Amino acid sequence: MNKNFEKLKPYLEKAMAFETARNLFEWDDQTQAPIEAADYTSKVNGILADEYMKSLINDDVRSILKKLQDDKEQESLSDTEKAIIKELKKTYDQLESIPPKEYREFNELTLVSNRKWAKARKDNNYDDFAPYLEKIIQYKKKFAKYRVKKNQKPYEVLLSDFDECFEIQDLDLFFHKIKEEIIPLLKEISKKADTIDKSYNYLNYDIDKQREFCRYLCGYIGFDFNRGVIGESAHPFTLQLHNHDVRITDRYIEDNLESAMFSIIHEAGHALYEMNIDDSLTQTLVGGGASMGMHESQSRFFENIIGRSKEFWEPIYSKLVDTYPDNLKNISLDHFINGINKAAPSLIRTEADELSYPIHIIIRYEIEKMIFDNEVSIKELPEVWNKKYQDYMGITPPDDAQGILQDTHWSYGEFGYFPSYAIGSAVASQIHAHMKDIMPFDEYLKGGNLTPIREYLRDSIHKYGATKNTNQILKDVTGEEFNADYYVKYLKDKYTKLYNLEVEK
Ligand code: ZN
Repeated sequence: MNKNFEKLKPYLEKAMAFETARNLFEWDDQTQAPIEAADYTSKVNGILADEYMKSLINDDVRSILKKLQDDKEQESLSDTEKAIIKELKKTYDQLESIPPKEYREFNELTLVSNRKWAKARKDNNYDDFAPYLEKIIQYKKKFAKYRVKKNQKPYEVLLSDFDECFEIQDLDLFFHKIKEEIIPLLKEISKKADTIDKSYNYLNYDIDKQREFCRYLCGYIGFDFNRGVIGESAHPFTLQLHNHDVRITDRYIEDNLESAMFSIIHEAGHALYEMNIDDSLTQTLVGGGASMGMHESQSRFFENIIGRSKEFWEPIYSKLVDTYPDNLKNISLDHFINGINKAAPSLIRTEADELSYPIHIIIRYEIEKMIFDNEVSIKELPEVWNKKYQDYMGITPPDDAQGILQDTHWSYGEFGYFPSYAIGSAVASQIHAHMKDIMPFDEYLKGGNLTPIREYLRDSIHKYGATKNTNQILKDVTGEEFNADYYVKYLKDKYTKLYNLEVEK
């Protein structure tokens, strides 16, 4: 092994230990910790975060990292080591550009701002949150400026933190395509809203039975209970300590059958990705998924492409009916499949169906771009938000709680994150199209045999962790880089059929 890399290892391992501890507190905070623990835990968390930084950002690591940039040194590194160094360099560039005092102030601000946001949303009062949002944006603009390259827009710096493969021009092109094709389709469908009945979904469903069925679903798609656990939290999420310890949560709602089922399939999709990462990468800087977009592609692949297909439910629908015979005995499989795919323009992103979902993302992306191009003031944001919902979806939020205040991301300063969700859906469609070409995909699902699908994803995507980026993975798997046409085709084909719409020739 390269001598300098050897010297680096203890620093990386120490940093990883602090990060793991922090993640465990995070898990505990969201699942089991009593309410009064939060203030005390956040102090511990702050110290752990500080120690994490110190074990990575210091003179020793800086000098070793510098030596390892040398061409000769690079030659003696393995591919995994090279990827770790690249990742470390990225972290350095991000963190070192910001003066420590400003970084600390910003982190303190986000904690306060997130609480203010939660209260403002509850009180439906944007004005209470606006001053904090303004400060967060000022910091983000300043931080982006520290790192901006020649001819680069500040917003692009933020986007690159979540996926290095997508610049503004790529996203503009992608979203333009979606707007052209999907908005008219959504308008057509909203005229036929009553043709699909979904009333069965809102009957009473025993929570214990939901919990049990969701656990079954999780195992059915391949979640390994020796490497993972399922908890409960207000919002479902996945948290990975490493590939042998992946934790997911679900939320059960008594009068909503599908909410918990599709949440658990989504989170299990994230979990499978993490569990299948190669052991040679465990607890290293490249031991997680390739990017946010790639991660969402795997969760959405399982949730939507597999989980909302008729083929997936064919072998197991009778088990669902047996679990709730009173509610479902007269609901046929086709009726159920139509129900879980019902689409309509909607106000809330997290509850949106597969078809309207990308429109929610486009609205946020366009507003973020305006913010960082200084084209809109904080005061004007709710109005801009509402107008876009009217223009694209044909509906206007009745209040800000159901409008601009609905998402938590901005209160943490996470600008540039939203596009990952739409990228994920599109990547999933592209991979799906390829898999259908090379294997009897639907037959596997109908036969209740998900193993070949899971193994293919493991061997061509998951095992590489973050040693490849989104486009490298897509190129290696499908033969081409990101191409949104597959996504548009998938949505158009699926919903034209579902709603019996005229197909234009
Ligand atoms: Zn997700």
